[in-house]
Amino acid sequence: MVGWNNDGYLELINYRTNFTSERFYSIFNELWRLNKCFSWSVIGFSLLGKPILEFRIGNSKDNIIHINAGMHANEWNNSALLMKLFDELLLNSANNSKILDNVTLSIVPMINPDGIDLVLNNFPNNDFLRENIIKINKFSLDFSGWKANIRGVDINNQFPACWELIKTIDFKKSEYSSRDFPGPYPLSEPEAIALYNLTLNNNFSEVYALHSQGEEFYWGFNNQEPPESEFLADKIEKITGYKAVRTIKSYGGYKDWFIQDYKKPGFTIEIGKGINPLPLSRFETDLNTLRKLILFCITDRK
Ligand SMILES: [Zn+2]
Repeated sequence: MVGWNNDGYLELINYRTNFTSERFYSIFNELWRLNKCFSWSVIGFSLLGKPILEFRIGNSKDNIIHINAGMHANEWNNSALLMKLFDELLLNSANNSKILDNVTLSIVPMINPDGIDLVLNNFPNNDFLRENIIKINKFSLDFSGWKANIRGVDINNQFPACWELIKTIDFKKSEYSSRDFPGPYPLSEPEAIALYNLTLNNNFSEVYALHSQGEEFYWGFNNQEPPESEFLADKIEKITGYKAVRTIKSYGGYKDWFIQDYKKPGFTIEIGKGINPLPLSRFETDLNTLRKLILFCITDRK
């Protein structure tokens, strides 16, 4: 078991705050200024042109585990949690470079910056877009229920994994909406394409998509998951206390597509419990759980 020690760690950055894209980019700049033991790249741009960033840390070339968050706008809590843990990981790997000898982490903390900014009441400048957004939101200015990207497509319904079947699910929408609309065709949205291409161009051994809420996680898709998925699910259930659920009626999700095309373990983790966006009062609880999961990812399981 690898260590993770935050004793004496002076917290310079506040993560317990409304986690807008501006906040995210400024934290990234600060971490990069303080510590260059990671690499970063822009994997694509949101509809409004905001960069979607990937961070990499670790020393393995053949065991790359991918973790992403902030796909759904009102689940921005996970972007903050993942960045906080990335910060802790930087500090811990600076003190002990061996903790990441057997793994490299690929981390994309904020896939949907436009949607997240909207939920946090930062309207885009463009008048046409504003009108359209308000119309999609049924003329309400309360965006707390918004999950989609800025033009009303649910990014986690965009992947080519039985995508046509999404419309057979009752609550899914057939037009642009604040949630649950899978788009006009698979991979129509730049945020989904960015994640898709990143995955195509890398040989990820496992993927974890962080969502909220429910304190459970999904580890199967159409019986296509490999046997080790069950083994890992069992361990993750014990470590996090979250309930392992093999499948729910779901298609077109990122982890669905990953399992289908790669036959490797993919997980959707539903962090926390309550109504999204989860309150900041949950931060420590959910941080502790997610820390255990990331520790599990970087631990040699053989
Ligand atoms: Zn979600």
